[in-house]
Amino acid sequence: MKELMLDRELHERMAQIYQEMAEDYQKVATELRFSCDGCPDNCCDSWFQHHTYIEWAYLWRGFCQLSQEKQVEIVERSRRYCVDSEKVLAAGQRPQIICPLNEEGRCLLYTHRLMVCRTHGVPATMQRPDGKRLNFPGCFRCQELVQEQYGTGQGESVPRVERTLVLRRLATLENEFLDGKRHLYPRLQLTIAQMLTKGPPMVATPHCERVAKEHYPSEQDKH
Ligand code: SF4
Ligand code: SF4
Repeated sequence: MKELMLDRELHERMAQIYQEMAEDYQKVATELRFSCDGCPDNCCDSWFQHHTYIEWAYLWRGFCQLSQEKQVEIVERSRRYCVDSEKVLAAGQRPQIICPLNEEGRCLLYTHRLMVCRTHGVPATMQRPDGKRLNFPGCFRCQELVQEQYGTGQGESVPRVERTLVLRRLATLENEFLDGKRHLYPRLQLTIAQMLTKGPPMVATPHCERVAKEHYPSEQDKH
């Protein structure tokens, strides 16, 4: 197996995408006069699954910057999260368990959190590759706000984040991160807790690299 590591250039390009997501989000939030301040809820207990290796590697980078002690604590919480969520899923329900990275309402890896954590809240829209448009109404609190300001049946006039382009760029970056072979790797569908218990993203060493190693072992491989 080989660890998928983010190089500096890809890391910066990911940070740029996240920055643009934050700006788009803020623009719509400002228009709607929406913020999370004073919210009685905490979305960090929502059941979210994530789908890109590059975001996993980005999160892992942040995790590695935490103290050893904190890392051990988080992995322990992640293990419990996985066990508890499996029980809830087995009962046919949707888990609602606080994310192992959340401490006292704050995200320990705020600057490394994943796209879903950054975009949940305001209404958004995106066009799928087959042309179908999907609309996301935002969190319950934002939906209430939209209803107050726009009433029902005024969907078109409601400000929304347009996610199509940024998601395409993320998909392109993911493919570059996987050496242009995204289609060869297993599809991901992991919670943050599952990512953290597994460690960094690992994939099977590609066949061509294994053959090269057998025929031309490096000095390190010989020992
Ligand atoms: S996104 Fe919505 S539900 Fe989540 S904390 Fe903010 S206001 Fe509350
Ligand atoms: S990564 Fe951070 S923002 Fe995302 S769910 Fe966990 S604690 Fe919340």
